[in-house]
Amino acid sequence: MLGPQLPQFNGDRALPHTVDVVVIGGGIIGASTALELTERGHSVLLCEKGMIAGEQSSRNWGWVRMSQRDPREMELMAHALRLWEGLDERTGHKTGYTRSGIVFTARTRRREAELAKWAEHLKDFDVEGKMLRSAGLEALAPGYGNRLRAGYHTPQDGRAEPQAATHAIASAARDKGAVIVTGCAVRALDVEAGRIRGVFTEKGRVNATAVVLAGGAWSRLFLRNEGVFLPQLKVLNSVMRLSPVAGVTETALWTRGFSIRKRADGGFTVATAGENTFDIVPDTFRIGHRFLPAFLKDISAVRFRVSGRWGIEAAQDRPWGAQDRTPFEETRVLDPQPSQKALRRALAAARDAFPALAQADVTQSWGGLIDVTPDEIPVISEVQARPGLFLSTGYSGHGFGIGPAAGRLTADLVTGDTPIVDPRPFRLSRF
Ligand SMILES: Cc1cc2nc3c(=O)[nH]c(=O)nc-3n(C[C@H](O)[C@H](O)[C@H](O)COP(=O)(O)OP(=O)(O)OC[C@H]3O[C@@H](n4cnc5c(N)ncnc54)[C@H](O)[C@@H]3O)c2cc1C
Repeated sequence: MLGPQLPQFNGDRALPHTVDVVVIGGGIIGASTALELTERGHSVLLCEKGMIAGEQSSRNWGWVRMSQRDPREMELMAHALRLWEGLDERTGHKTGYTRSGIVFTARTRRREAELAKWAEHLKDFDVEGKMLRSAGLEALAPGYGNRLRAGYHTPQDGRAEPQAATHAIASAARDKGAVIVTGCAVRALDVEAGRIRGVFTEKGRVNATAVVLAGGAWSRLFLRNEGVFLPQLKVLNSVMRLSPVAGVTETALWTRGFSIRKRADGGFTVATAGENTFDIVPDTFRIGHRFLPAFLKDISAVRFRVSGRWGIEAAQDRPWGAQDRTPFEETRVLDPQPSQKALRRALAAARDAFPALAQADVTQSWGGLIDVTPDEIPVISEVQARPGLFLSTGYSGHGFGIGPAAGRLTADLVTGDTPIVDPRPFRLSRF
């Protein structure tokens, strides 16, 4: 089973000979970048080794939020909220975006104080937020709100449908002139005197003066083969889809033991909230020390294990050339097994909070490997040592909501237009 069900995407078959920009990766970041560049009149080829949104971009929870975001990303996220608002019209397709509000809950005084402290960051933005007590929470989460101490509510936050949004954006990019080829891995960069001249794909070579790598969990591996260092690890999060049932919350909730948000089909996406699984792999020993501060922030939320991923990633360690079959062709879609144990715990917690969910069936479950950087914000940056190579990756578990604006910022860097936000916090050179 390859993750959640996805619509058909009608892509192109033939590669162009020459384009201005090649985008590697058909997730929300690559698709949004391709749309931006195409709208600005640049010729674009997007290569996706598997399916549009086959990996993180269709597997995520669908939250589009300012809440609890790293302050360094908030200005970009404020742009994203505005872009989501007009995205259906801009793309001519449905993204499922709606401002349904999000609540992060608190059961303890300490957690409440943390939420209040974070809320200070909202002051600079035109985004509402309010600490609610039990009665206010009860109105948003009937039968459960009373059991909570407090919750921070951001009514302008919301959700979009991960199984529709990236398709909408990629379809619009193609409608406007981008060439989009799925089932086409980019194997390597063509570099002359340090500068980008094009890419080698499994279907042939393409000339380009700029390349954007939006390869999600594959970016580090791709770059390692090019001699560029990117510290990036993968963390597994497990998700399930429940069938429609009445009497549950309309507002997305992050609370102890689970997260929940309503889906456009009336059902719910429920996940393991903060609980993530971390597979020990060779990279853990090479770069794991850089991630210690991030892990230690909430060590109880991470479960370490040794699994089959060790062998898979160890086998990917050999370098390759442009004529070789690469790991990108070996694994068209990264489709990890979800942790059923974690999902059982989340489902029990969700049914305890909302007894109506006992009537809902679990119609599907899936896992998603999240690409994380040591400081948990993305890299949106030109690679100084390879003029013409731009990275837009490492979104660390929150790249879906910010995706449309991240695509805009990435396009700004490629074209040399005035960037919508100061790109310095996202530079690769910070590592
Ligand atoms: C379970 C889960 C829950 C999440 N919840 C949220 C949420 O609620 N809100 C939020 O904002 N974010 C969330 N995220 C994070 C969000 O999904 C990601 O940050 C975002 O989708 C990243 O998009 P991307 O385009 O960078 O990567 P991806 O969607 O992973 O796309 C990268 C693509 O690049 C392709 N690729 C890689 N290498 C090559 C190559 N050499 N040639 C061709 N193609 C290549 C891959 O096949 C893949 O399709 C969640 C993630 C997961 C897994």
